Amino acid sequence: MGGFWIYGQWQEGRFHPVVYELLSVARRLKPALKEKIVVVVLGPEDRREEARELLRYGAEEVLFFVHPDLGYFRDDLYSEVLSEAVAERKPAVFLFGATAEGQALAPRVAGALGLGLTAHCTAFEVDEEGRLLQIRPSFGENIMARIVSKTRPQMATVKPGVFSKAEPVDEPEGVLEEVKLAAVPGSALRRRVVRTLPRKESPLSRARVVVAGGRGLLRRENFDQLFELAELLGGAVGATRPVCHLGWISEDHMIGVSGETVSPKLYIGFGISGALQHTVGIEGAEVVVAVNSDPEAPLMKRADIAVVGDATRILPLLIRRIRELKG
Ligand SMILES: Cc1cc2nc3c(=O)[nH]c(=O)nc-3n(C[C@H](O)[C@H](O)[C@H](O)COP(=O)(O)OP(=O)(O)OC[C@H]3O[C@@H](n4cnc5c(N)ncnc54)[C@H](O)[C@@H]3O)c2cc1C
Repeated sequence: MGGFWIYGQWQEGRFHPVVYELLSVARRLKPALKEKIVVVVLGPEDRREEARELLRYGAEEVLFFVHPDLGYFRDDLYSEVLSEAVAERKPAVFLFGATAEGQALAPRVAGALGLGLTAHCTAFEVDEEGRLLQIRPSFGENIMARIVSKTRPQMATVKPGVFSKAEPVDEPEGVLEEVKLAAVPGSALRRRVVRTLPRKESPLSRARVVVAGGRGLLRRENFDQLFELAELLGGAVGATRPVCHLGWISEDHMIGVSGETVSPKLYIGFGISGALQHTVGIEGAEVVVAVNSDPEAPLMKRADIAVVGDATRILPLLIRRIRELKG
C-alpha cells in the first residue's frame, strides 16, 4: 500500500526519457514524502531485463505486469490494467509523462476510479502536511497554480524535458516484482496492432541553438528569415502558438505548454511577448536573448540579454553580420 508511482512508458524497446525525469522528481521529493519509489511497467516477459534496469536509476521497486498482449500500447487495455493495480495497491502518488501516451492513459485511469488529475505540471513541492503541490501555469493568466489533490493517489502528468534525468545510483537496492496476468481485460480483443511506425522526433528537442519568432515579426516573409539564421548557427526554428495558427510554420515547431520543451545553450526570441504558456517551454535554456520593441515585455524581463528594437530590422542585420564574421 502507498508508494510514489511512476508510469514506465516504453519508446521503441527502451524507456521514454520522461521516465528518468520522473525518477529524478521522485528522488528529490523522497525525503519529504517518504514514499517508496515504484515504476509501473507493462509488457511481455522478454522485456524483464530492460525493466530491471530502472532499479539502477533509483527505482526502489519495478512493478512489472506481464502478458504477451501488453507488447504494444493500447490505451483501453493499459488503462484497465493500471486502474485495477491502483484500486488494489492504493499508491499515494501516480505520475505520468505528459506524452501522447501519458495523456491518453492518465485521464482514463483517473476517470475509471473517480480521481483528480493535474495536467502538464512543471514543478512540485511538498507542503507542511505532506501533500504534493502540483504546480503548473494556469490557463490564460500569467500565474503558476499550486494544485492539491483531494483524492488519492495524487495524480499528475508532467511535461517531458522540464526536469533533468536521474543519474544512476551507486548500489541499486530495489526489487523487480513480476505480476503475471492470467488474462488481459476483454477490451484487448477489440483492437489489433497491425504495424508500428517509428516516431518522428522534433528537431527542436535536441537543438543546441533555437531561434524563435512571434507575432512581433509581423509577416511571414520576416519569419522565414529565421530559417537562414538557424542554418548559420546550426540550430532549429521555434515559434509561438499564434504564429503557428497564422500558418507561418507548422505546429510541430511550437514551443510551450501546448508544444515542445527545449533546452538549448542559446535561445533567441524575436518579437515574442513571453507569455508563461511559451516560457515554460524554454526553462531549460542556458542563455535567453530577447528582441522586442517593448522593453516591458515579459520575455525582455526574463532574458539574459534584452535587445530593444524592431525585430524585423534586427533579424536581417544579424544574419548579415554573422555571414560577414564567417567570411
Ligand atoms: C491554453 C493555452 C495554451 C497556450 N499554449 C501556448 C504554447 O504552447 N506556446 C505559445 O507560444 N503560446 C501558447 N499560448 C498563447 C500564449 O498565451 C500567448 O498568447 C502567445 O505565446 C503570444 O505569442 P506572441 O508572443 O507571438 O504574440 P504577442 O503576445 O502578440 O506578442 C508579440 C510581441 O512582439 C512585440 N513586437 C511587436 N512588434 C514588434 C517589432 N516590430 N519588433 C519587435 N517586437 C515587436 C510586442 O511588443 C509583443 O511583446 C497558449 C494560450 C492558452 C490560453
